[in-house]
Amino acid sequence: MTQIICIANQKGGVGKTTTAVNLTAAIALAGKHTLLVDCDPQANATTGLGIDKNALNQTLYHGLIGEAGIEQLIIDSEIDTLKLIPSRVELIGFEVEMMSEQGRELALKKLLNQMNGHFEYVIIDCPPSLSLLTLNAMTASDSLLIPLQCEFYALEGLGQLLQTRELINKSLNPGLTICGILLTMFDQRTNLAHQVAEEAQRFFQGKERVFETAIPRNVRLGEAPGFGKPILLYDPASIGAKRYSALAEEILNLEK
Ligand code: ADP
Ligand code: MG
Repeated sequence: MTQIICIANQKGGVGKTTTAVNLTAAIALAGKHTLLVDCDPQANATTGLGIDKNALNQTLYHGLIGEAGIEQLIIDSEIDTLKLIPSRVELIGFEVEMMSEQGRELALKKLLNQMNGHFEYVIIDCPPSLSLLTLNAMTASDSLLIPLQCEFYALEGLGQLLQTRELINKSLNPGLTICGILLTMFDQRTNLAHQVAEEAQRFFQGKERVFETAIPRNVRLGEAPGFGKPILLYDPASIGAKRYSALAEEILNLEK
């Protein structure tokens, strides 16, 4: 069975892409066949894996509009068990071109349905909006992973995200669950970080999982994309690498 996890939060800069790249890499290095789907026209996950976007013929956009099959889109990464469906700026066009199409929220689901079951985990990196692309990602997924940056206003906008999830539950994807809330840029030493953690627990009233693993602010995590590498290849000894491995383990254990 393939587990499809969508990483979403309409706020920018909360650690979606960092989590998508490094969680996928950590699961892949644990021996699972993984696929990272870059669903953001900014294509940060694609560059974060060291892919030269200009050298690509086809990207997610071509798959979503039906110009390419999934096999034509999947490319290799430095890790054998980690494959990628890359994105590029043309993905912006998808929203506009599909505006009046029926079933426009189902394009990604249809594309991923072409998978032959080879992948055990598929992770989707969403753009910082509740746009058609995010709706496509939520519709195609089994669960939602929400990164929360441990800053003031961390929970602002969360209601809107959860409302969107409920809407998706009612119509497009009744099975979409919440995989968990991930605290990012968590600074153990500050009251603020602990406050956000508590607020998150309260907000979800214990109904949803807040992952035990929190991701600290770590300079190496910020540097790694500049070298086109997941943190586990760039600096395996860093705290960032250790925490993303721990998160991968938590998620792999959910299956058991
Ligand atoms: P999003 O995809 O939600 O917009 P990113 O993952 O791109 O967020 O993170 C925003 C910025 O913060 C990036 O420059 C990224 O490298 C950096 N960053 C993300 N997580 C961390 C972290 N735990 N420690 C340090 N820098 C981080
Ligand atoms: Mg991003």
